[in-house]
Amino acid sequence: MKNEMQIEFDAKSVNEGFARVAAAAFLTQLDPTLDEIADVKTAVSEAVTNAIIHGYEEREGKVFLSCRLEGDTAVIVVEDKGVGMENIEQAMEPFYTTKPELERSGMGFAFMEAFMDQIAVESEAGVGTKVTMVKKIGQKEEENQNECGDRAH
Ligand code: ATP
Ligand code: MG
Repeated sequence: MKNEMQIEFDAKSVNEGFARVAAAAFLTQLDPTLDEIADVKTAVSEAVTNAIIHGYEEREGKVFLSCRLEGDTAVIVVEDKGVGMENIEQAMEPFYTTKPELERSGMGFAFMEAFMDQIAVESEAGVGTKVTMVKKIGQKEEENQNECGDRAH
């Protein structure tokens, strides 16, 4: 099974909740556990917040979110056409932040790495940033699956 969605929305903080719920809703067809949904929501939320706050520095712009399902694997891409990054490796280090004055903790990328199976970041200064995150869904045991199913009905 292959299925894909793409959405584009304004780089406004108010849309961060919409983006993570949209990704989670699209994912439900893979019958995820509540934990898997929470993981994906957190990762999408971190990537989208970064696009808005760092990519566009809260100026106008568009954020692009896509979700591609391939079998039991979800590939989620969050992209901005903002300022980009000079040094991706440094940016991805835990606790590294260029906005400490905004009380950022520098843990966004660390959360994305922790909650998803794989993450790849492409970025170019002045061009933008593309974060690709991959997670296999449905790693649950049979028991959890039934529990979840019962709750849903
Ligand atoms: P937190 O996510 O904990 O609030 P943070 O956003 O600073 O803090 P990360 O999400 O790990 O931490 O990002 C680290 C740094 O990478 C940012 O401070 C910023 O400099 C850079 N960065 C991340 N995403 C982008 C982006 N989309 N465009 C430009 N720079 C980015
Ligand atoms: Mg962040």
